Amino acid sequence: MKIALITGITGQDGAYLSQLLLSQNYKVVGITRSYNNSNLSNLKYLKINKEIHLEECDLTDIPSIISILRKIKPDEIYNLAAQSSVGLSFEQPIGTITFNSLSVLNLLECVRIVDNGIKFYQASSSEMFGKVTQLPITEKSPMHPLSPYAISKATAFWSVVNYRESYGLFACNGILFNHESYLRANNFFVKKVIRNSIDITKGKLDALHVGNIDIKRDFGYAQEYVKPMWAMLQQQVADDYVICSGKSISLRDIVYYVFSKLNISRDKIVEDKTLFRPTDIEDISGDNGKAKTKLHWTYRYDFFEILDKLIEEEFRNYLS
Ligand code: NDP
Repeated sequence: MKIALITGITGQDGAYLSQLLLSQNYKVVGITRSYNNSNLSNLKYLKINKEIHLEECDLTDIPSIISILRKIKPDEIYNLAAQSSVGLSFEQPIGTITFNSLSVLNLLECVRIVDNGIKFYQASSSEMFGKVTQLPITEKSPMHPLSPYAISKATAFWSVVNYRESYGLFACNGILFNHESYLRANNFFVKKVIRNSIDITKGKLDALHVGNIDIKRDFGYAQEYVKPMWAMLQQQVADDYVICSGKSISLRDIVYYVFSKLNISRDKIVEDKTLFRPTDIEDISGDNGKAKTKLHWTYRYDFFEILDKLIEEEFRNYLS
């Protein structure tokens, strides 16, 4: 039985990745910052909380990581833990950059010290490319981060590349573009639009407050995006891969689509300047050709199809 160690197991991707690995007969061990304060709602929603072994560990503390690696002896580490909100990173730049880059460096260093045969996956992000000059984004596109979050992810990305090149670690970057699901935290755009729209139909909210909705992103479905994370670690050679749908749509189109599905008037959209970010990517989409060829990963969904699914799931679970 293979052993996978997942950091950030309580998040959206941690839950779906755990489900995938359990279905493949892995022993799944999740790292949490605190047993007592862990929010296991995503794992409970997928009914897998009892199958996961949880370990408390501070990823900023090397001795704590070393003792976990010695105790668990993982075959694979999936590093998903991060302060994952771009918006929040402008309010907490130092905390975001410190944790998101230091935790990765610590893990790589501990793998090198304890057992350099452990395979390592890093949750990298399309945000690293930022001020893009050419679309679609490939693994070779230049980076120009536009937020503290993006800076932290670029630092982590290059740490992974450096440990691969310097010490021969089997370390991969999955460069994931935005991916959504019912398990997304409430402060993320698509989840917020759907939840607030349902609240409007129930008379609990007057309007949807949004920032700049003319920006475009390449959106996909989280449950499909965890598959290539696993596939990367099963290759002969460690490498980096762009994971995306290949098509960008505007946030405005998402709001209009959800509003029309729920029969809400567009008068209920309030564009709020305080929600605009100091800098933002205007439009970004990726080329998933390498993942398609090497990982045999194909992605066929249209994002409006995913929105239908998410609206239905949100209604099903909505507590009145
Ligand atoms: P979530 O925000 O849902 O989950 C983040 C996880 O990280 C949670 O388990 C959280 O634990 C943990 N975490 C946050 N801060 C800390 C900390 N200081 N110490 C320890 N653990 C911490 O993110 P997703 O599941 O959506 O994303 C997974 C990874 O992929 C993240 O690294 C994200 O940046 C990256 N990514 C995500 C994309 C997306 O569209 N979803 C796109 C590209 C990259 P807790 O429950 O304790 O808060």
